[in-house]
Amino acid sequence: MSEETKFVLGEDAIPTHWINLLPDLPGEPLPPLSPATGQPAGPEDLTPIFPMALIGQEVSMEPEVAIPDPVRDAYRLWRPTPLYRARRLEQALGTPAKLFYKYEGVSPAGSHKPNSAVPQAYENAQAGVRKLVTETGAGQWGSSLGFACSLFGLECEVFMVGSSYDQKPYRRSMMRTWGATVHRSPSDLTESGRAQAGNATGSLGIAISEAVEVAAQNEDTNYALGSVLNHVLLHQTVIGQEAIAQLELAQAFPDVIVGCVGGGSNFAGLVFPFIRGTLRGENRIRYLAAEPAACPTLTRGHYAYDFGDTVGLTPLMPMHTLGHDFVPPPLHAGGLRYHGAAPMISGLVKAGVVEARAYRQNETFEAAVRFARTEGIIPAPESAHAIRGAIEEALAAKEAGEERTILFGLSGHGNFDLAAYDAYLGGTLEDPEFSEADLETALAALPQGTPALS
Ligand SMILES: *Cc1c(COP(=O)(O)O)cnc(C)c1O
Repeated sequence: MSEETKFVLGEDAIPTHWINLLPDLPGEPLPPLSPATGQPAGPEDLTPIFPMALIGQEVSMEPEVAIPDPVRDAYRLWRPTPLYRARRLEQALGTPAKLFYKYEGVSPAGSHKPNSAVPQAYENAQAGVRKLVTETGAGQWGSSLGFACSLFGLECEVFMVGSSYDQKPYRRSMMRTWGATVHRSPSDLTESGRAQAGNATGSLGIAISEAVEVAAQNEDTNYALGSVLNHVLLHQTVIGQEAIAQLELAQAFPDVIVGCVGGGSNFAGLVFPFIRGTLRGENRIRYLAAEPAACPTLTRGHYAYDFGDTVGLTPLMPMHTLGHDFVPPPLHAGGLRYHGAAPMISGLVKAGVVEARAYRQNETFEAAVRFARTEGIIPAPESAHAIRGAIEEALAAKEAGEERTILFGLSGHGNFDLAAYDAYLGGTLEDPEFSEADLETALAALPQGTPALS
């Protein structure tokens, strides 16, 4: 085992392909359903809002998809990202476990999201689209898409979830610096927004409805989603491929991999290149998805067909969901405030390949501060869920007296989330719960008459 702390690769090690897990998943892929007919959705349901190249990636059954050269060139701005050995955290925990983390906060926007924003902007520009419109929770996706649009000469319009718009003024400034226009959601610019005016804090589901509505109504405008869909998860697999090469440099191989899950894209990006080996019987890694207890999609949601947005404009997707009109409490981990999880991740949880755990807001920040005081980096509140899970695993290894290797995803930095850290340090951070009654209310909105999934 080498003594190094940071494992870095040269630009020539940026992957040439994305890894598509679809052909390796257990069972037949379940089709999305058209919101109009309830029948399996075809490309024609998606062409009003997505370019053909991305629709092709969404349904591709090729195990690998080539990364276009201009996208790889843009990736050079921050990739390969570093893999760290968390030696100081290991020491503080007194664990025999080896802890590694893959850090995506070195991208211009400060998270993993540009990994997909860049190819999405590129393919839309290639297709002659003039403007991309999207939603953003904490502002991470909006800023990533704003950045990516600036690289390829596209306009960018962002509907930002109300509670984040109020809490995170500097994320707004970033988007505007890259040239994007930002609206507070729910807005009065769309029918979907006007219909949800009563939900003042907003939600990702509502903001998605607004963005999809604008894209569907304008010929030269497309929509871009920052998570959940197969092609977004595909783009993120550069993370895990680099991690495999970096762990080889460290002469290590993971026993368990931990990531946080909002829609599931950073988790998928880290684990899919490893899970392919697991599904093929080549390794026996455990996978742990960490989510907020106040928005417990994977641990308490139903596995059912549901809409991706609040109003019901998107295709119905097979996923773990709390019901499309569930409005989660205004958590600081805004990127995890989503009612559903990616169909591919949901299927893996259903199949027992991925285990899910939920953490409360305060215990998550406790882990974040512990991490900041040992490893230095101030983590995004979303990423802190993965840290919490990794610390639990490290303590379990200590309890068992086993030298396990734990890899976790540090999806972004928290340098724009300092108001949340102030609240935690001042003892005023809320710790919202999710009761049985909340669950019942949330699930009551599940669409009726869709095929049962069991
Ligand atoms: C958006 C975001 C997430 C959650 O989204 P996923 O698609 O589940 O990855 C997690 N971490 C950070 C830093 C984010 O910006």
